[in-house]
Amino acid sequence: MTTAYQTDDQRWAAIERRDRAADGAFFCGVRTTGVYCRPSCSGRPLRRNVAFYETREAARAAGLRACLRCRPDEPIETLAYGFGDTPLGLAMAATSKAGLALLIMGRDRAEMREDLAARFPRARLLEDDAAAGPALAALVAAIDGERPGDLTLDERGTDLQRAVWKALRDIPAGTTASYAEVARAIGRPSAVRAVAQACGANPVAVLTPCHRVVRSDGGLSGYRWGVERKQALLAREAAA
Ligand SMILES: [Zn+2]
Repeated sequence: MTTAYQTDDQRWAAIERRDRAADGAFFCGVRTTGVYCRPSCSGRPLRRNVAFYETREAARAAGLRACLRCRPDEPIETLAYGFGDTPLGLAMAATSKAGLALLIMGRDRAEMREDLAARFPRARLLEDDAAAGPALAALVAAIDGERPGDLTLDERGTDLQRAVWKALRDIPAGTTASYAEVARAIGRPSAVRAVAQACGANPVAVLTPCHRVVRSDGGLSGYRWGVERKQALLAREAAA
């Protein structure tokens, strides 16, 4: 899709909208500060101070150094993301080369895009509904109580978070567990608070069923994607 960034006007427009899809397509040099940036850098240069470069090497050859804010020398990872409807409302999936990196539910596309951008601050983000299709289909299947097909997950988290997410996938549909039980399941019985935080940070809605974790007294506790959705998911599973 680099054709969208051929002319200086197109490139400047990409910088003005901090276009995360433009990262890697070209680099932006700022004469006054002596740095070169990704097009999506949060810096706000003036047009007259900006020059465009096809490659990092060309920017360096012009005497510029890498911006410390946007780190244009780091490998630029591409995530493809797309939206779809589910029985529980709007969903968004984002996939990397390695697998499903984010699957979330929400109401507002702009807010969901912001969530994605905040979780992957250095990734190039390309909207591509086709790439998101398999994950969204798996989400719909899981909500409908069917066994979703196998998806490779590309979960990013600490060792403890990943252990918690794996333990959540061992909680059978139609049952629930408490945070303390999940903490015991991962061999960290005193880490109840960290377990609760890991549930809140779950990047893969429903397929990693953090909705099956409730308070020790049976109370629903919170749900990142709205407690009504949690209630609906548990009711569907109890009825199945
Ligand atoms: Zn920068």
